[in-house]
Amino acid sequence: MNHQPFEDWLLEETPLSLQQRQALETHLHVCPSCRALAEVNRALRITHLVDPPPGFVHRFQIRLAAERRAYRRRSLLGWLLLTLSVMLILLGVIWPFLRGQISLPEVVSTFWVSLVNLWVTLQVFVRLAQVFFQLIPDVLEVAIWLTLLLLVSLWGATWAVSFRKFVHVVQGVAQ
Ligand SMILES: [Zn+2]
Repeated sequence: MNHQPFEDWLLEETPLSLQQRQALETHLHVCPSCRALAEVNRALRITHLVDPPPGFVHRFQIRLAAERRAYRRRSLLGWLLLTLSVMLILLGVIWPFLRGQISLPEVVSTFWVSLVNLWVTLQVFVRLAQVFFQLIPDVLEVAIWLTLLLLVSLWGATWAVSFRKFVHVVQGVAQ
């Protein structure tokens, strides 16, 4: 079977006259080979039509950024809760000892000053963490959280120990 000029018409996708189109239709009815070619052409045109709608990539990026922000907020909240727990545990450790000393105004005021210092330091840590997490990739996030938590715990322990020492000194002065 002679496939010309139908094969060329299908491959080049040139605009056809009414007469040419009728001739092509007639040929397609009897020629499976050219029919297959025409099918492929149509499939390719359909594939081209289902390109992403305009703005799709932009909307996807916005949604991704929002999800990342939500994830960071959850991480920050978890971290704050953990820090609060550590603080409460430390306070629980210090409290029985503190209750005996509550009559000394200097100790109480020092305790409050230390507590305020602790709070301010924690806020600085949180701010630093927020800035860091906007700069580093997510893979490092867990490692940084753990390091920060360890630092804060160490800081809290140091604070507790120095507070104990201070109260011993105050006791020595008071006696
Ligand atoms: Zn043919």
